[in-house]
Amino acid sequence: MEYAKTNRRGDLVFFSVEIARKHERGLALREDLNQSIKKDFRGFELFFQPFVNPGTNLIAGCECLLRWKGEKIKDSYPMEFIKVLEDYGGIREVGFWVMEQAIKQQVAWRDTYGELQVSFNVSYQQFMDEDFENRLISYVEKYGVNPSYMIIELTESCQVDKPQELASMFDRLRGRGFKVALDDFGTAYASLEMLKCLHVDYIKVEHSFVRELSEPGHDIDYVIIDNLLRMCRRLGYDSIVEGVENGKVADIVGEMDVTLLQGYYYSRPVCRNDFEKLLEEDKQQS
Ligand code: C2E
Ligand code: MG
Ligand code: MG
Repeated sequence: MEYAKTNRRGDLVFFSVEIARKHERGLALREDLNQSIKKDFRGFELFFQPFVNPGTNLIAGCECLLRWKGEKIKDSYPMEFIKVLEDYGGIREVGFWVMEQAIKQQVAWRDTYGELQVSFNVSYQQFMDEDFENRLISYVEKYGVNPSYMIIELTESCQVDKPQELASMFDRLRGRGFKVALDDFGTAYASLEMLKCLHVDYIKVEHSFVRELSEPGHDIDYVIIDNLLRMCRRLGYDSIVEGVENGKVADIVGEMDVTLLQGYYYSRPVCRNDFEKLLEEDKQQS
């Protein structure tokens, strides 16, 4: 009944073992996630994926991506456990934890590797939390980060029902010097309509337009990305193209008017140690 009410309202739905299994998995995840949160976020970790400057091929910063291993559940992907966290509200505490770790990390790297542009993900629900701004400011003060090196990415996980409130939140954050990015631009909820009401600093172009760019028959993807990037420039926005998986795609997109590139071609998201190795390699080169 619960499944029918939330997913198929108005439809006739028959019981299936698969639905029951999904439901049980959801409950188990919730329980295990809660345990992790209670135990001071044990099992949560940030991974880092580089943003690369297409002109120099050097790392300009990174996106912080959440990973989690529970006490019982060890095989959950972000798409799954973040959805569970969002559905029951656990994303609030975890989101503040991510925010703090990301800010702390930017500052920790500063002396050795210079100022890196560090981004973290925030869902609409988190932006609308009345404590969001206060927390952000308190961490800025605590760690002494320069907000202009922090990029806050709005993920496309849900529909924005109060665009005006979100727009004024973005304006306030940008007024304080933070950078704001629209993530996964071109997909479900991250659309042109959002561009009309929100002022941002970066647009992140979604994987799905990029991944197959180098394969025959993908001229449409080329036209879409090329023109999207031109549009960003005309609007005064910087851009990050995600999903660069091979050198061919990197060459094609690198020729376009793009600010930063991200994707498996440069590196998968990696743990802090491995990311620092990449930074070391860059340091030797430059
Ligand atoms: P996203 O913010 O769009 O992050 C990019 C995702 O694309 C990451 O998946 C990354 O591993 C993957 N990716 C990177 N390069 C490539 C590539 O070349 N090819 C392909 N196919 N994929 C690539 P991941 O880490 O599984 O994260 C999934 C989503 O979970 C993120 O998408 C973001 O929306 C959400 N997420 C991750 N961390 C957080 C967080 O701390 N808070 C919130 N609210 N959401 C988060
Ligand atoms: Mg993102
Ligand atoms: Mg993205």
